[in-house]
This record gives sequence, structure tokens and C-alpha cells, in this order.
Amino acid sequence: MKPVTIPFFISHQGCPHTCVFCDQRAISGDNGAIPTAVQINDRIALWRTTSGERPLEVAFFGGTFTALPHVVQAALLEPLQPFLKNGSLDSIRISTRPDCIDTERVAWLSEMGVRTIELGVQSLDDAVLAASGRGHTGADCLTAICCIKAGKLKVGAQLMPGLPGDTPATSLVSLERVIAGGVDFLRIYPTVVIKGTELARRYAAGEYTPLPLDRGVSLCALLLQCAMKAGIPVIRLGLQADHGLDDDHILAGCWHPALGQLVRSRLYADLVTRFVFPGQRATVRCNPTRYSDVVGVRRNNLLVQAGRGVRMQIISDTAVPEEQLSIQTECTCSSYSIVTDLHYSIDEV
Ligand code: SF4
Repeated sequence: MKPVTIPFFISHQGCPHTCVFCDQRAISGDNGAIPTAVQINDRIALWRTTSGERPLEVAFFGGTFTALPHVVQAALLEPLQPFLKNGSLDSIRISTRPDCIDTERVAWLSEMGVRTIELGVQSLDDAVLAASGRGHTGADCLTAICCIKAGKLKVGAQLMPGLPGDTPATSLVSLERVIAGGVDFLRIYPTVVIKGTELARRYAAGEYTPLPLDRGVSLCALLLQCAMKAGIPVIRLGLQADHGLDDDHILAGCWHPALGQLVRSRLYADLVTRFVFPGQRATVRCNPTRYSDVVGVRRNNLLVQAGRGVRMQIISDTAVPEEQLSIQTECTCSSYSIVTDLHYSIDEV
């Protein structure tokens, strides 16, 4: 059963500096103060009343957990120990930077009940990392992934296509290399320009060209398909819109409140376009969990097919796997997969 995550945003706490694109307070909508033991206890008690039978996981997001003074890390993890012991809390997840993790830290975190570490990798390209003010190299990221795997914890990588100096090709190479490095899951957050950041200053000065939404969707579709081929889940695509992020905070970049749906919808739309000829009538069956993706944001996929003269009926069918469509036309009836039956080229992004 998928755990319910109780998030604590410790925005920028522990960060050695501010990366050029980052404003965690705007992203999380939280001032990022370190929670007290009482606040931690109260929030867990509150979430337990609504989580039903599902296991609970506490997550510390938005800062550099392992760069906090050790006493602060301990003060955050110790209140969780009684919950772990009595079984009312299943696990702990933290996020940190690749240059702030080592064997000793992983061993201690594991003893304290941490089961998952999310790394802000962003890119494996050293020029992109330098231009983004990250202060670490691609090699640091791969070393950190190895170190966490060796400590038998789960490791996830966050990637940010569209950073300064990035290209679709370097984004793809970064994704391929973190997958080869052994990550268990990915988050893909295409770069957005947030008001007040160094990136916003560069954008205003004409020193940075953001990745626009249409190209970002094309690139993310390719990256998502690549991850699916490797069997690595992408647990989030695009920043969450329900915190402090809105059009007032975002100046430019690959931003849409339903970016993940836009990207998944693109894959299904491309599959229909590939296998249904213009002017045909098509009955498309999909897994119920994918129905809204197949229809598209604001029914966009239906409109696109209507523009090709395709009259498309979409039916939910639990027998169809999530990554497939069963397509019936006047001439054929066959199943196709967004993983194996679409072939994207990085040159087309
Ligand atoms: S990107 Fe990560 S390390 Fe950089 S300022 Fe933001 S939270 Fe801190």
C-alpha cells in the first residue's frame, strides 16, 4: 500500500548558498522554519486521523537536510523514533544535495529510520551545474547515488531540464546516466523562472533563455518514455501548483499547473496519431487511470484528432494496461504501447 507522506518543508535550511533558480519559500508556500518536537508530534497525530489503514511516511523537503548541524538533524529525527517503534510511522524520507552525503551520514540516517534519500541532481553536465551555481559536479551526483545504494536506502534524483547552458541532449544524457547509476525513482522539474531569483535577473537582462512550455512538454515526453523503458518511475513531473506558486511568482519557463498530465497526454496523442489515419473513425480503449490523459487537458487530444478528421470514442477498460491503448478502426484492431511503439528523436525537440 502506497504510504501517505506527511511533508515538512524546511526551506533553504542547511543550504550552503542559494542556487540561481531556487526560491523554496515560493515553491513550498512555507516559511521553512525548523519544526519543534511538539509541532512534529501534533502534525503526525493529525494526519493519523485521516490516513486510514495506509502506512505513514514523514518527509523533510526543501532544504539540505544533511548539511544541517548534527544536533538539528537529531532534533528532527528523534521525535519520530517512538512512532517508528510502535509501528504508527513506517519510514522517513529526506532531501539533500549530492555533495552533502557520505557513508557515515547514510549509516546514521539509516539507524534513525530514514529509508529514502532524494538528491537534487538537476543535471550531470558540469557546465550546466556551474552556470546554475550548484557548487558540485556531475561526478559528485553519481558518487552520492552509489553511496546511498551501498547503505541499502532508496535513492531518487531530481532533474531540471532547461537550466542555464542545458540542451535537450544534455538533459537526456543526465537522465540516462542517473538511471545507469542506479536511482530508484525520478522527479523531473523543468526549469521555471521564479521572481526574485538570480535566474530572474539573468532573464530580465537577456542573459538566459528559458525553455518554453511547448518544447518542455516535447522534451519531458521523451524523458518520461526513456524512464519508462528503463522501468524507473517518475513520481512527479513539474512543480506543484497548489503551494506558493502562481502566475505572480513565475515569470517564464516550462510552467503549467498540470504539466504531468500535459506530458502523459502527449504520449497517448502521439500513439493515436501514429496508428489512426486521418479521416478514420476510431474506438480507443484505455485503462481507467489513464482516461483523462488520453482525453487530454481541456479535451485537447480529442480536438487534435478532430482536426485530422478522426472521430474518436474513448472507453475505459480495466483489461488494458496503463501504458497501452487498444485501438479499433474500420480496418484494424490492435494494442499499442506508449513505451515501445513511439520513437522520439532528440533532434525533434
Ligand atoms: S536548489 Fe536545493 S541546495 Fe539549492 S538553494 Fe534550493 S534547496 Fe538549497
